[in-house]
Amino acid sequence: MSYVQEILEQVKKRNPGEAEFHQAVEEVLYSLEPIIEKHPEYKKVGLIERFVEPERVVMFRVPWLDDNGKVQVNRGFRVQFSSAIGPFKGGLRFHPSVTLGIIKFLGFEQILKNSLTSLPIGGGKGGSDFDPKGKSDTEVMKFCQSFMNELYRHIGQDLDVPAGDIGVGAREIGYLFGQYKKIKNQYEAGVLTGKGLTYGGSLARKEATGFGLIYFVREMLAAHGMDYKDKTVIISGSGNVAIYACQKVQEYGAKVIAMSDSSGYIIDEEGINLDTIKQLKEVERKRIKEYVNLHKNAKYFEGQQAIWHIPCDIALPCATQNDINLESAKKLVENGVKAIGEGANMPCTNEALAYFLEHNVLLAPAKAANAGGVATSALEMSQNSMRLHWSFEEVNEKLDQIMVNIFKASKAAAEEYDMPGNYVAGANIAGFLKVADAMMAQGI
Ligand code: GLU
Repeated sequence: MSYVQEILEQVKKRNPGEAEFHQAVEEVLYSLEPIIEKHPEYKKVGLIERFVEPERVVMFRVPWLDDNGKVQVNRGFRVQFSSAIGPFKGGLRFHPSVTLGIIKFLGFEQILKNSLTSLPIGGGKGGSDFDPKGKSDTEVMKFCQSFMNELYRHIGQDLDVPAGDIGVGAREIGYLFGQYKKIKNQYEAGVLTGKGLTYGGSLARKEATGFGLIYFVREMLAAHGMDYKDKTVIISGSGNVAIYACQKVQEYGAKVIAMSDSSGYIIDEEGINLDTIKQLKEVERKRIKEYVNLHKNAKYFEGQQAIWHIPCDIALPCATQNDINLESAKKLVENGVKAIGEGANMPCTNEALAYFLEHNVLLAPAKAANAGGVATSALEMSQNSMRLHWSFEEVNEKLDQIMVNIFKASKAAAEEYDMPGNYVAGANIAGFLKVADAMMAQGI
């Protein structure tokens, strides 16, 4: 058994039942094998063993009163995975599927993603199995306040800085920040990112993950002599990442023909009307199937996987983990897909990733391609520390440059380790080397 296999076995034994965490670690460790072999000093100081073990894990009870006066109890998590290169940083996910294993996988991915941004932020993630869907504003507020009543003691602008993720947007961040401020009696703006613009938020943060994805994929296409003009695009999801990826790719002249939500997907051969999607999703919080009532040419289908059976040039999975399985990957390749851009975290299974790489499909891995969100969170922290506000253009330009740099770093690392064009391995290697170097410098 190789050193990497041994560690993987240990991870599985130590974290039973946490399939997504095992999957994330497996994907990363196998691509790091050449680096680990090249650096025997890592083994001497147990660097990889420490890298796969979170620095701290917090799990807590979140009781709250629903609108009927009934007590509800949810479970809260914060996994502070690595502070090697900066304070823990990563979003909060509120979704019924959230478990400790899901938060660990997300926290682990965040270490490398945050390192790739070249900004000083460590990796962490948190959340709850609370489902904001179908809850009133008051219920969401009560939940957020109760969640913060425990979380506040574990976070701080130089300790751990949460933000949004699935189920946590501007509304939730507002309630969380309000409660933190009440408890601390201090205006610590940099303790959370994704804040509203009137109280310390950054322009372009809302757009950043989606825009950043499109900038990264633009660089990847260009490196292989392609661009977005007249390409057919499919985007899964219709949340924050999907919406702004759609906006930007449409600006570059591509045609987005399908989008989805957790119930099903719509096809609009004339091109998705994004104003309708924004109205339905951002304003009215409705299901995507309502789209077909407003655009008679469009069609709605129940279910998720079949969206990947529609022929397209570029597929952008922007919904959630394990969205593209091996079967869907085969279908996409059969239909001539040219590039995949991962907007969500770990949206392709490891089998799907391997299949795309074997069939020479360009693959922009999540850690690199969706790092624009957290990078802009770090820019929000900078503005909070400086007590000033940059313009939309200024933030967007910085974001674009960061994405260009992440692409360059991923490409260079892939080439250095004899895997040209494998940006999955390239991103893992580039992100890891900085963290490893910091860990070596700081001792055990
Ligand atoms: N949840 C986002 C991510 O997966 C953003 C995290 C942040 O801004 O801290 O990277």
